Amino acid sequence: MLDTDKKRVQELTELLNRYNYEYYVLNQSSVSDQEYDSLLEELKSIEERRPDLKSPLSPTQRVGGSVQEGFKKIVHQRMMLSLGDVFNEQELIDFNARVEKDTRLQDIEYMGEVKIDGLAMSLVYKNGELQYAATRGDGNVGEDVTANVLTIPTIPTHIKDKRDIEVRGEVYMSKKTLEELNKKRALNNEPLLANARNAAAGSIRQLDSKIAASRKLSAFWYYLVNAEELGFKRHSDSLDYLAELGFVTNPERERVKGIKGILNYVEKYREKRPSLGYDIDGLVFKVDDLNLHEVLGYTMKTPRWAIAYKFPPDEVLTKLENIVITVGRTGRVTPNAVLSPVRVAGSLIARATLNNEDFIKSKDIRIGDYVYLHKAGDVIPEVSKVELSRRDPSSVPYVFPSTCPYCGTELVKSESDIQHRCPNENCPSRKINKLIYFVSDYGMDIDGLGDSLVEQLFNEGLVKEVDDFYSLKEHETDLMLLDGIGKKTFDSLVKNIERSKSNSLEMLVSALGIPLVGKKTALELSRHFVHLRALVSASKEELSKLQDVGEKTAEVIYNYFHNEDNLNLIARLEALGLNFECTSIVQAKDNFFKGKKFVLTGGLASSSRNEMTKRLEALGAISSSSVSKVTDLVIVGSDPGSKFEKAQKLKLRIVYEDELIELLKESEGGKDEENK
Ligand code: NAD
Repeated sequence: MLDTDKKRVQELTELLNRYNYEYYVLNQSSVSDQEYDSLLEELKSIEERRPDLKSPLSPTQRVGGSVQEGFKKIVHQRMMLSLGDVFNEQELIDFNARVEKDTRLQDIEYMGEVKIDGLAMSLVYKNGELQYAATRGDGNVGEDVTANVLTIPTIPTHIKDKRDIEVRGEVYMSKKTLEELNKKRALNNEPLLANARNAAAGSIRQLDSKIAASRKLSAFWYYLVNAEELGFKRHSDSLDYLAELGFVTNPERERVKGIKGILNYVEKYREKRPSLGYDIDGLVFKVDDLNLHEVLGYTMKTPRWAIAYKFPPDEVLTKLENIVITVGRTGRVTPNAVLSPVRVAGSLIARATLNNEDFIKSKDIRIGDYVYLHKAGDVIPEVSKVELSRRDPSSVPYVFPSTCPYCGTELVKSESDIQHRCPNENCPSRKINKLIYFVSDYGMDIDGLGDSLVEQLFNEGLVKEVDDFYSLKEHETDLMLLDGIGKKTFDSLVKNIERSKSNSLEMLVSALGIPLVGKKTALELSRHFVHLRALVSASKEELSKLQDVGEKTAEVIYNYFHNEDNLNLIARLEALGLNFECTSIVQAKDNFFKGKKFVLTGGLASSSRNEMTKRLEALGAISSSSVSKVTDLVIVGSDPGSKFEKAQKLKLRIVYEDELIELLKESEGGKDEENK
């Protein structure tokens, strides 16, 4: 049997090793950090599921980096590790929970620090004198880059403490320096430096230190390695001591308490990040109590007492593996990008809509391209552009299909429509999506009928039309042959389906999937017509008078109820005993307000407008937000708006608050005031 996991582990290992080499040795990346992180995460998750495939040489187990020829090797006295990373709030919450569990403590104090995007560096001092500066290398052996590091003017060559001291920090290039350098390079027709991190790393690892000197590097020092031996109890105190010794420490550090403190710090630096003079790619949280560092310990690659939170990027690059077409219940054809999974703003994205043919054409999106995904706010990520520099020269423009991939019918596209449509009412994809819509929370909201189960039921021939759901109880044996359906699931499914028969009329109207009729219109139609049969026989004129229904929608609804298949379906649903009545109105006791459409305008002295609306609805009245000929009552409070004027013009029945209170008293008492 082909072991796909094994093959993928090999692929990922090869890719990650190549990217590590480019990043750490060549100081040039051919992929973005997010793409690298996604691949590493994918490898981690396979290894968790399949420990037999985890090798000690895996990129998940090793600190990336190696020693470049030409530099003296330095064996680190203590391993220079990487940091575990997390990408969203939940993962920070999990990290804190693990720390609390392992230490059996609560409200842990952490040092919140900014994660400077540069190159890790170790400085070793003996007798108050700098011995060497070394890169991290593979964590065990680094490169002696003392001459280059000494070009940074703030590095202390002598310190007052004569004990053995190792200090670690980050060498970086400020945003301003990078900008100035690139300006000069542009003038000299030299290639520009892609980012500050690669620029800093590239400068430090030059054999000629004159080049490093010309690059104007800086450094922040964030860790006194042997702090405990030197008598410190807290990481924060050791940082203050480093500052006292003359090391540049980062002023943004803050001691925070518990998960609340962590999340507040994240919030603060999400905002402050752009105003910092240097790039940061995240934040670091370190347990402050040094005693706890030993308790929490280390993994092969990272300390368990610290975590790096990586900021979600606004835009990430990933590969577009394929374009697949979906056909919705109304026949609308949508092209979708199948992507190499990538994290965008905290969630893993493997698909994105490509909207329509024009969208693909205008951006010239091709299968195999590397594309940027953009996410703004809560919006679903969209492909924003293609990275042309990574396009395979043999790629060809995407050709939009002319026939439906599900039923072979020729697709149609009218001049006024940017969308292709499949006109075949019997297209399997349209039918499946109609069924999915019927049971979804846009419709009957039936628990247990997920998309893939509905698709299976359709493919097995058990459900072809929406009324077939109600005869599933007769197919126990067939259903139990499906994946994941046992007796218990079957029973609860049947119970949920039966229960949906008494759903409100608006749920049923919405579930029918009449084009242009969403939940809101369904509610208005149900309240206005009170019975589905009345809606079925409504004229176009009556329909178009409703607030939410324009002429176009009225026409669509009218046509829907004048189609033989739809009428047959409605008859079958009625025979099955589905609720066809707007029960809130039908069941209200007879009273003045029952069935009347009202509009409220102006403020009321006796209660809020919301409360009053609820009170009137409980009596079977139908609330509406705009005044029209079909409005029965206009309730007028203080400072009424233009609705009052319109009501007067249309000569509608106007009720002021005093009268309203009287009418309410009588109606809630149950008397029939209808013809008073
Ligand atoms: P890391 O960047 O995730 O975190 C560890 C490093 O953070 C430390 O070694 C230190 O140098 C730095 N750091 C900055 N501020 C710090 C602070 N206040 N306290 C402690 N440490 C601080 O891990 P890494 O192993 O250095 O690099 C891995 C990352 O590099 C990947 O997640 C990826 O984003 C990037 N990478 C990219 C590519 C690529 O091809 N684009 C290749 C390899 C690695």
